[in-house]
Amino acid sequence: MIPESFEYFRAHSVQEAVSLLNQHGDNAKILAGGHSLIPLMKLRLATPKVLIDIGKIPGLAGVKRQGNELVIGALTTYYMLETSPDIKSGCQVIADASSIIGDMQVRNKGTIGGSLSHADPASDMPAVVLALGATLKAVSSGGERTINIDNFFVDLLATTLKSNEVLTEIRVPVLSKGTGAAYSKYPHPASRYAVVGVAAMVAVDGSGTCTSARIGVTGASAYAYRATKTEQGLTGKSLDQATIQAAAEHAADNVDMLSDLTASEEYRAHLVSVMARRAITEAARRARS
Ligand SMILES: Cc1cc2nc3c(=O)[nH]c(=O)nc-3n(C[C@H](O)[C@H](O)[C@H](O)COP(=O)(O)OP(=O)(O)OC[C@H]3O[C@@H](n4cnc5c(N)ncnc54)[C@H](O)[C@@H]3O)c2cc1C
Repeated sequence: MIPESFEYFRAHSVQEAVSLLNQHGDNAKILAGGHSLIPLMKLRLATPKVLIDIGKIPGLAGVKRQGNELVIGALTTYYMLETSPDIKSGCQVIADASSIIGDMQVRNKGTIGGSLSHADPASDMPAVVLALGATLKAVSSGGERTINIDNFFVDLLATTLKSNEVLTEIRVPVLSKGTGAAYSKYPHPASRYAVVGVAAMVAVDGSGTCTSARIGVTGASAYAYRATKTEQGLTGKSLDQATIQAAAEHAADNVDMLSDLTASEEYRAHLVSVMARRAITEAARRARS
């Protein structure tokens, strides 16, 4: 339970963090809330020689509304998301998902940027940001780039973020009238991580027809994914229970399900369709109300 020894640097700006990353290359790791990295280091599953603590960089924590987007700093904790008035009024699903992550200590220290960068297959936020169609900002010595969330999660604990980049912000839409989003998870009984979690965002027109749908799934497979067949099963249809049920049945199609002591592949696939049905039903109710 004791990590290998490492050098510790506290970065005072994103530029300083980036320059430390360049200086130390693959030996270095960013430290944010530490609630994923430190447990891995204690188990010696991660043995970075250098930790670059970004936890106190000014301006990286908090939520701002800019036009019809919410700009979330990478260091924003789950507790901040859960209690942010801008999140509650503009994108309640983020507060809902944050409030059921881990325990109070995890919610006070864990950050949304850490969660997305780490890409744990059982973490909640990947499903939510996929459903919302988020865009991410990453900074390196070469400048800034924007990453579409659809191109971010690529494998177990792997993303398209480069080792010399710092994730600095996450942009999500303010949900407009006629659009609703919801998250439903089957939590692990001890850790509260998602055995399966599904987030849904649907838009309906005046006649109740679904004009667009995005479904994000986490916990089920090596990395979070969009359930595109379910999205197709909703779009252009009236969101009654039969349509939602039929579409939800396809949320695990063509995806290799994980299997562990908590849930077999078959059970996970079943949970995916149940969580999808619940999330879509609630998102549709919110869209209509
Ligand atoms: C007991 C327990 C229960 C938990 N339950 C849940 C749960 O129910 N749901 C859930 O989703 N999560 C859960 N977690 C995980 C927790 O939410 C993590 O804190 C979070 O996923 C990672 O955020 P962090 O700020 O702690 O990141 P860190 O641990 O500091 O970093 C994680 C990884 O991301 C990299 N990184 C961090 N920030 C950046 C950045 N801005 N730019 C580039 N790279 C970066 C680090 O280098 C590291 O590789 C739990 C953790 C614990 C210990």
